[in-house]
Amino acid sequence: MKTEFYSEINSEVLDHCGKIIRDGGLVCFPTETVYGLGADAFNPEAVNSVYEAKGRPHDNPLIVHISELSEAESVTAMTEVERERFGKMAEAFWPGPLTMIVTKKDTVPEEVSCGLKTVGVRLPSHTVARDFIKAAGTPIAAPSANSSGRPSPTLASHVMEDLEGKVDAIIDGGSCQVGLESTVIDLTGEVPCILRPGGITLEMAKKVLPDCTQLEWKEEEISAEEKIAPKSPGLKYKHYAPKAKTVILQGEPPKVAERIHWALENAEKRGVKAAAMVSSELKECFTVENVVALGSRNDGEAQAAALFKVLRDFDAQGIEEVYAEAMPEDGVGFAVMNRMYRAAGCKMLPVRYVEFVCTGNTCRSFMAEYILRSMLEKRMADGDIEAVAIKVSSSGVFADAGCAGSQMAEEVLHIEYDIDGRGHRARAFTYDIGEKADVILCMTEGHKLAILRCFPEFESKVFTLGEYGNGQDVQDPFAGSYMTYSRCADQIRSLIENGIF
Ligand code: AMP
Ligand code: MG
Repeated sequence: MKTEFYSEINSEVLDHCGKIIRDGGLVCFPTETVYGLGADAFNPEAVNSVYEAKGRPHDNPLIVHISELSEAESVTAMTEVERERFGKMAEAFWPGPLTMIVTKKDTVPEEVSCGLKTVGVRLPSHTVARDFIKAAGTPIAAPSANSSGRPSPTLASHVMEDLEGKVDAIIDGGSCQVGLESTVIDLTGEVPCILRPGGITLEMAKKVLPDCTQLEWKEEEISAEEKIAPKSPGLKYKHYAPKAKTVILQGEPPKVAERIHWALENAEKRGVKAAAMVSSELKECFTVENVVALGSRNDGEAQAAALFKVLRDFDAQGIEEVYAEAMPEDGVGFAVMNRMYRAAGCKMLPVRYVEFVCTGNTCRSFMAEYILRSMLEKRMADGDIEAVAIKVSSSGVFADAGCAGSQMAEEVLHIEYDIDGRGHRARAFTYDIGEKADVILCMTEGHKLAILRCFPEFESKVFTLGEYGNGQDVQDPFAGSYMTYSRCADQIRSLIENGIF
């Protein structure tokens, strides 16, 4: 199929595209959220071809777009409660980036609702979208105009990338203002519930419907019930997946910046193409080109408008690994993090600074630092890039700062672990070191007590490595034989494997 492309929009073009819809064809059109892939909502065959064009699973319903409020009547059969909620929300947020789920009319085909008794309806604010729907003379069922599994399109060129040859026409309306898909709110339940966060936030919805709630989307917060029977079928799919492996790093900004620096350097050593997306504040810490700013840390709107384009640009550049800074989850930032979370395979990693502590920082904590770092590097090399979240260093409670590691420890590291520890220099444990650490792992109970005597405020984060790894204290190999050191290193390795991974 040849796809017509219209970058100049006038009434002739819209009438022509409206006719394509009436004839059962597919037209991609701009909205304020993302581009939509539209078909006549009352034509089951046309609606079916939307699923085919996108490669969308047949159990993920489509949103019906209308050009004016009264048109909602043609697709809905609302209960009293739904009608009241619907009226209030429409008054407050329509036209705009809000989809409302209510009971559907029987005439809305199964193909739109995927067998549900409900339908999602939206009145977009984008004038081209509304004029186009009006020209079609029928409500338009439209999901986002991307191939299923790819980030939603915020530019007509994104639509071309995914759907050229699979749709009849594309209307180019420039870049989408919101940049994320609409907020989806279910009005059919006991209380109204936001199923998908978006430009209309929970706080905004609560001003109109005070008992409104929001579905959890972080793995650890999703209820068992919701996992078995999701309220919004589409939410079980991992949308927005870029081609690159993506990790989100959460923590104090300087620590996140340090980890991203390390990750990009590490990727370069491995010959892997990596990039980062961060707030404009964090971007200041970088001079390299492959770190892209999404917007100011507290400007969720700007981040939303940029996110999908940045992900698509990374794909186009052949980026294989993406390191992202977690943004604050207030306002629209909540929706931004929801999409980023899905792009990252539903995981967010807190950055963890691990500090190993022994007496002189020349044997045990020195070996522990180098062994853990080498494990982390090996994981990165094997493609398990979540290892990036851990930073490791070491120090001693009575260290002679600047001393090299003991010769025997160096030898064991070299011979048994293929690690070059010659660059190590001892550090004395200080308040600043402890303050920066997220977890302080001591070789013995004695070291732990020594730290807590001076710095009781670290109580909650000081452990012995034995406690952490479910084993014994690590005794001092000092002045022992090669065998003594080798056993000590082996004990450390096994405690790290039990306790940290
Ligand atoms: P998309 O059109 O790609 O933005 O996806 C539409 C989203 O709205 C998906 O997450 C659907 O699961 C959700 N949705 C559409 N209609 C309904 C409905 N009747 N009930 C629940 N969720 C719906
Ligand atoms: Mg979509």
